[in-house]
Amino acid sequence: MATNKKEEEKPVKRVKTPETLRGMKDILPDEQIYWEYFRRKAREISAAYSFGRIDMPILEDEKLFVRTVGKQTDIVEKEMYNFLDKGESKVTLRPEATASVARAYINHGMLNLPQPVKLWYMGPMFRYDRPQSGRYRQFHQYGLEVIGGPDSVVDAQLILIAVRLFEDLGLKVKVEINSIGTATTRQEYKIELIAYARKHRKELCEDCTRRLSRNPLRLLDCKQEACRTIMKDAPQIIDWLDEDSKQHFMQLIEYLDEISVPYVLNPHLVRGLDYYNRTVFEVVPDRGDDADLGSQSALAAGGRYDGLVEQMGGREETAAVGLAVGIERAILEMKQQDVEPPALPRPDIFFAQIGAEARRAALQHFEDVRAAGFHVVEAFGKSSLKGQLEAANKENARFTVILGQLEVQDNTIIVRDMESGAQETIPMEQMIDYLKKEMGRK
Ligand code: AMP
Repeated sequence: MATNKKEEEKPVKRVKTPETLRGMKDILPDEQIYWEYFRRKAREISAAYSFGRIDMPILEDEKLFVRTVGKQTDIVEKEMYNFLDKGESKVTLRPEATASVARAYINHGMLNLPQPVKLWYMGPMFRYDRPQSGRYRQFHQYGLEVIGGPDSVVDAQLILIAVRLFEDLGLKVKVEINSIGTATTRQEYKIELIAYARKHRKELCEDCTRRLSRNPLRLLDCKQEACRTIMKDAPQIIDWLDEDSKQHFMQLIEYLDEISVPYVLNPHLVRGLDYYNRTVFEVVPDRGDDADLGSQSALAAGGRYDGLVEQMGGREETAAVGLAVGIERAILEMKQQDVEPPALPRPDIFFAQIGAEARRAALQHFEDVRAAGFHVVEAFGKSSLKGQLEAANKENARFTVILGQLEVQDNTIIVRDMESGAQETIPMEQMIDYLKKEMGRK
């Protein structure tokens, strides 16, 4: 019977595949070599300087950030991912981690521990900012916080650790430092700064015009050329420091000189968050004097936040200092400076099988080899030997073991040295000892 052609044609279903949200990205296996390298170096340096790891929730009460980072900062005003949860609580995907660490310090009575308490964290942060290279809406930070240590030696050591980390990663960096004094002196300074900027109001960019009334210190680190030119002659915060902050800063500089940490004094460095006082610093790539680093150049940033713990209900005068490294930025810079992370360790053995019976047996033998401590890989999804040997070459395995129909019957296995190409058939029960001997293992 002739069929109706129209009936045969299936309607084409067009499914729109969901995509990641703007400013968020997948980190694919090929990229992981950089991430693994960074994480390893971060873990090593944290341990070397006796920092304990802390993991905080990614979702926190909105108030935590509004009160600490500051109502009129860019982060709180424009960039927070906040929403009402199903219980009508106002919650926020953390835009940074220092406030959470300070909260945890108080919540868990860490002031009863020997001071200072040294903590490190690593994880995702969220800021609803305009995405561009080096600026994402979900990004990752590795951070160090030292709570309960007022002396500038702590600042110096933290800056040193940051420099060491980047050196360990193979990157050339420099540190920019400044002191922003206390909240009181900053207030006095702000009045002067506003008076100066008002005189140039017409020439300022739109953002700076807004900052003038809401967050004037940010005028100093605006990246727009016109604003930078105006700000060059602005009063400098360093001239407003109180005597103690001045002493603290001078000592910091002496310590940095003592340990030969390369730094540059940057009177325009102010950091955008309310909780900072005294020392502020940034780590930027050192690509030679004339290099244009663009606006998203800071690899890491940090500073003192002596008032934060007290402000959050903790013990008075709990001095603290911290640092956060942008992991995506560090990885971009590794690529920029041609730093190749070491390849992942090559597998010892590739396990190949030919035929249904061998494949069944191979599943168990693979387990035996793995349990004997070898790094073993396979491609059980492939059936041709050619395809499997290609996979073994791609994995750069030291040896390939091959199990075919005949070997299953004879209870043997073929061991192939992938470097010399020589191969040998050996009894199955000797396989592990043979491989251990060949690889010089006990
Ligand atoms: P902050 O928490 O703003 O002091 O930033 C510390 C570091 O995190 C910066 O120096 C950057 O390396 C990194 N960072 C901050 N915001 C972003 C972002 N939106 N995307 C990628 N990295 C960021």
